[in-house]
Amino acid sequence: MVSRVIPVDTFDLVIFGGTGDLARRKILPGLFRRFCAGQMPEDARVIGAARAEMSADEYRSFVADAIREFGGGKSCDDGTLEAFQARLEYVTVDAMGDDGWPEMVKLMDGRDVVRAYYFSVAPSLFGDLASRLHKWELTNDQTRIVVEKPFGRDLVTAKALNASLAEHFDESQIYRIDHYLGKETVQNLMAVRFGNMLFEPLWNSQYVDHIQITVAETVGVGGRGDYYDRSGAMRDMVQNHLMQLLCLIAMEPPSKFDPDAVRDEKLKVIRALDPVAPHHVVRGQYDASGDGPGYREAVEDPRSRTESYVAMKVGISNWRWAGTPFYLRTGKRLVTRSSEISVVFKELNHSIFGEKQDHRNTLSIRLQPNEGITLNVTIKEPGPGGMRLVDVPLDMTFAEALGEDAEDPPDAYERLIMDVIRGNQTLFMRGDEVEAAWAWTDPIIAGWEARGDVPKPYESGSSGPGDAVQMLARDTRVWREVKP
Ligand code: NAP
Repeated sequence: MVSRVIPVDTFDLVIFGGTGDLARRKILPGLFRRFCAGQMPEDARVIGAARAEMSADEYRSFVADAIREFGGGKSCDDGTLEAFQARLEYVTVDAMGDDGWPEMVKLMDGRDVVRAYYFSVAPSLFGDLASRLHKWELTNDQTRIVVEKPFGRDLVTAKALNASLAEHFDESQIYRIDHYLGKETVQNLMAVRFGNMLFEPLWNSQYVDHIQITVAETVGVGGRGDYYDRSGAMRDMVQNHLMQLLCLIAMEPPSKFDPDAVRDEKLKVIRALDPVAPHHVVRGQYDASGDGPGYREAVEDPRSRTESYVAMKVGISNWRWAGTPFYLRTGKRLVTRSSEISVVFKELNHSIFGEKQDHRNTLSIRLQPNEGITLNVTIKEPGPGGMRLVDVPLDMTFAEALGEDAEDPPDAYERLIMDVIRGNQTLFMRGDEVEAAWAWTDPIIAGWEARGDVPKPYESGSSGPGDAVQMLARDTRVWREVKP
């Protein structure tokens, strides 16, 4: 299969926070891979911006080091790296003052190209950056801003952030990144749902028993303890990533694959979510077993009540989903790193093969590792001896089915940054979506705080607290095994 690289308009991409962790690990290596793939127009530039004093040449070496550490792509080599370095510029600039802005103006002057400003800085600086870009007249009619998570810590702060951006930018210029939406499989989920006759007629509570969404990590909070302890799994993962996955699974078919049509449908799902009863949530905190510190040691607060794990049963009150539970779970220091959505279909009403056998179709969408989609179907076990049934996977692992192209798909950040340059907001969260997600999340967190809820300890390297298993057992269901 021949890889198709769709050209984009030429651009200046300014990365505020161009020396930070995210820029080093994701944004810059991602841009380099797009460069290697031939997707960066000839006079496109990447401009790092931060307070650190650095010459453009020093920044070029800094970026080369980051790329060597965090990876180029198959078609990248040292020669390409040098050519990419020639596209890099750097400006010393302070988001909170006027230092460095005249230099930024000089650098951007006279270039009538797409201007993308990536705010890879703390959210407390978003408003300052937006107003300084405006004050220094650094915007043109092709300007976009990209903002990172966390987008607020509750409804009030999210509204304030939205308002501070809206003072200077139209919603059509604001790209709120959720990198889960940039994953190949997540987009494939939409292709599978809406590009096949097979699934959509069955995609409702009449045929779907339940849906599970799992995002399991093996790592602990690491060096992010301070940030994480103020946030927890609910704010850090559920409100954004799991919510977005749930929306894509549950939404009605949009009339077309267009940014607002898709986002309108996602918003309707969030607004139809039921409030979550306390006994439908399990919070956990990993302990010191295994080879690392426990959560409380890692965040240096022996009494921390922040959850590193959350599992919940969620209902959607609409015509399509009433009666079909969605079970969500995410956590750190779990047995394996795995993100998966499973659509578990109902059992047959009647089996013609005699004794009742528990065979059900399950559609599993794996986000990581080994992105792919598997459909479990029931067939006859080969050989003589009567009609014995067995479940086998119809595996649509992309690397096998699509060959080389699928082995090295663009990383989520690469894809999303190119969407920004193209001006395609389909895979970015709209302000009202983010606010609706917080409006649903806030009462759950407020309930924990009011009740003084203490997360259940769970063993590091396990599959989470036993209470989460009990929660499904009460519904006579089981969590799918978390596989590497
Ligand atoms: P970081 O490593 O602390 O980097 C922050 C960057 O901002 C540095 O380049 C810093 O450089 C710059 N900066 C700080 N104050 C500034 C100011 N007043 N004016 C201009 N530049 C300033 O943070 P990060 O981990 O890269 O995270 C950046 C954003 O992405 C945050 O919103 C974070 O929540 C989000 N995010 C990060 C990750 C991740 O994996 N790291 C994942 C998801 C989301 P100077 O100090 O030299 O100015």
